[in-house]
Amino acid sequence: MSTLRFRVVETAFTKKAVDVAVPDERPSEYFGKYVFNRAKMFKYLPEKTYRKLVDAIDNGTPLDREIADSVAEGMKKWAIEMGATHYTHWFHPLTEGTAEKHDAFVEHDGKGGVVEEFSGKLLIQQEPDASSFPNGGIRNTFEARGYSAWDPSSPAFIVDDTLCIPTIFIAYTGESLDYKAPLLKALDSVNKAAVDVCHYFDHNVKKVFAYLGWEQEYFLVDEGLYAARPDLLLTGRTLMGHESSKNQQLEDHYFGAIPTRVAAFMKDLEIESLKLGIPVKTRHNEVAPNQFELAPIFEECNLANDHNLLIMALMRKISRRHGFRVLLHEKPFKGVNGSGKHNNWSLGTDTGVLLMAPGKTAEDNLRFVTFIVNVLMAVYRHNGLLKASISSATNAHRLGANEAPPAIISSFLGTQLTQVLDHLEESSNDELIALSGKHGMKLDIPQIPELLIDNTDRNRTSPFAFTGNRFEFRAVGSEANCASAMIALNTAVAEQLIEFKSEVDALIAKGEPKVSAILDVVRKYIKESKPIHFDGNGYSEEWKAEALKRGLDCETSVPVIFDNYLKEESVKMFESTGVMTRKELEARNEVKWETYTKKIQIEARVLGDLAMNHIIPISTKYQSELIDNVYKIRSLFSEDKAVLLCGKDLDIIEEIGHRELAIKEKVEEMIEARKKANKIADEREKAIAYHDTVAPKFDEIRYHIDKLELIVDDQMWTLPKYRELLFIR
Ligand code: ADP
Ligand code: MG
Repeated sequence: MSTLRFRVVETAFTKKAVDVAVPDERPSEYFGKYVFNRAKMFKYLPEKTYRKLVDAIDNGTPLDREIADSVAEGMKKWAIEMGATHYTHWFHPLTEGTAEKHDAFVEHDGKGGVVEEFSGKLLIQQEPDASSFPNGGIRNTFEARGYSAWDPSSPAFIVDDTLCIPTIFIAYTGESLDYKAPLLKALDSVNKAAVDVCHYFDHNVKKVFAYLGWEQEYFLVDEGLYAARPDLLLTGRTLMGHESSKNQQLEDHYFGAIPTRVAAFMKDLEIESLKLGIPVKTRHNEVAPNQFELAPIFEECNLANDHNLLIMALMRKISRRHGFRVLLHEKPFKGVNGSGKHNNWSLGTDTGVLLMAPGKTAEDNLRFVTFIVNVLMAVYRHNGLLKASISSATNAHRLGANEAPPAIISSFLGTQLTQVLDHLEESSNDELIALSGKHGMKLDIPQIPELLIDNTDRNRTSPFAFTGNRFEFRAVGSEANCASAMIALNTAVAEQLIEFKSEVDALIAKGEPKVSAILDVVRKYIKESKPIHFDGNGYSEEWKAEALKRGLDCETSVPVIFDNYLKEESVKMFESTGVMTRKELEARNEVKWETYTKKIQIEARVLGDLAMNHIIPISTKYQSELIDNVYKIRSLFSEDKAVLLCGKDLDIIEEIGHRELAIKEKVEEMIEARKKANKIADEREKAIAYHDTVAPKFDEIRYHIDKLELIVDDQMWTLPKYRELLFIR
């Protein structure tokens, strides 16, 4: 009997919800307790320092060394009062996680002792000895220096005993080696471009923020069961496992009562998140068994992204307190839903206007339509790039597979917005603009002023859906750093808004009135961006054919999808907006291809090992028990009777033999394919070889293993089964 599996199943069943210490204060009182937010800055910094820092945060004005010293002093005082003993520059290398190296606050005091020290220099810049972060060849070993530099726009926070300072991570030569640096540049560029366009409508706008509200999906698995599954442990997903007889068919998990152990985990996570200033708001069960979702209130994009990375780290940590492991992989289990991370995205002004929300007046709605149509144009022009921004070896199991959304980017607008755009497209400017006394121009766009755009008109199959006052980029993977998608999207929109403005200005220069010029260009864009607009069923086969006809990017091979980053129009977009250079794009693609290869390589190794030293030995043992039984029966009964009694056993004995043979052959083929691919020096070609020749073997091998799982004595099977992984909590 397989002792580990049954032992972990038994203990998992007896686990009770862990008690969570709920703070005496109310959430509004402990919110941001561990964050060096404005209230703390005000309290701990001299007035001049406070003013300069706030100015740096709000307006991006550079901070001089003296001010940085003063900020560091105040920050240190607060951190030490809070019990922190260490500090770290916290950054986002080109992996899915975050990186940190902790240093103590101590320095020599010159008298043989130590003193708690933290200078402005240490706050502003560090040189992490980090030659082993992915860098795509930008930093070869002899210039292995990388710098982390303070991002004052995201507040420092304390985790356990460490003050964490959000930073960017760049090479000695200035190229970005992380997600945050280009994200900040993308946000800056969309801010500038959007402010300029806003000035057509309102001269008071000084800043435009990109907002992000992410919805994080995840699975929880009992820790003991997890430990008994080497594939989960090493790759984050199950590489084998027959479907459970019951999974999500009854649709009884979504929004159902949250199981008690899970509820305790969620409560714990929420309390910790609130203390770290993450405004978590929503929690519920997701579609698949043991799948859940967490969402905060949306925030400025850079901060929201830091918070998402922080919460993923918290989830990993806190789940263990509750005897769980969190699975952030996009597709941990075959046959049930995978996990995504919807990125709700919008632009809003410092005057409090959400630019993707319809307004009350016709003028407001011209602004609304202008921004919506520019977003559509940007998504249309760069649909391949946007797909590349969310593509990864792991997300590939969700996209383009039999499940949401397809590997084609399109945008859902809903009936009302579609009607508005159709109306605009067909009407003439004279028809739309009527003079109305001293109020000046008035617009007649009949549908919009009275109607609030209905955001219940949801289409779950759309990868980029308009939902009332924002777009929801749904193709983002659960494990991904949202920055990847947010860099591409915000930069594309920035480029588009710049072009829009130059087109409108050209018409105005020719003497066309402003509103009429805007309408002309908007109308042109509505026509041009039509191919990206699709309100139908994104899962259907017809859509794939239709999308191809429309010229949308339909590529499904992830390594090839990455080529989109190096297309001339992409390089032009990133360079003209100052977000990334060609060199950076090339280096980052090297990293993407390399990461892709490594992920598939690891999976292939784990699958090969499990097949050969877990599965085959067990099925052989069972087979030999059957053979033994057959011999015994034949010695007891007459030939005729024995044939009758053993016939089925002989079939099973044979089937096991055939399946084992198939597994052995396929594993060998997979190893050969890997060996061949490993000889390829070019990272792109190697990744393509892994995609085309190694990855396809996984399903072939798995098919036979899953069949064996149904035949072999359950008592012998060592790996926890799907029904155990998915239903024990
Ligand atoms: P669902 O899409 O599942 O109905 P919600 O309506 O709760 O979920 O919203 C999901 C996320 O969208 C939340 O994080 C919410 O704060 C965010 N959100 C709402 N409005 C905006 C907006 N204008 N811009 C960006 N995010 C937004
Ligand atoms: Mg949503």
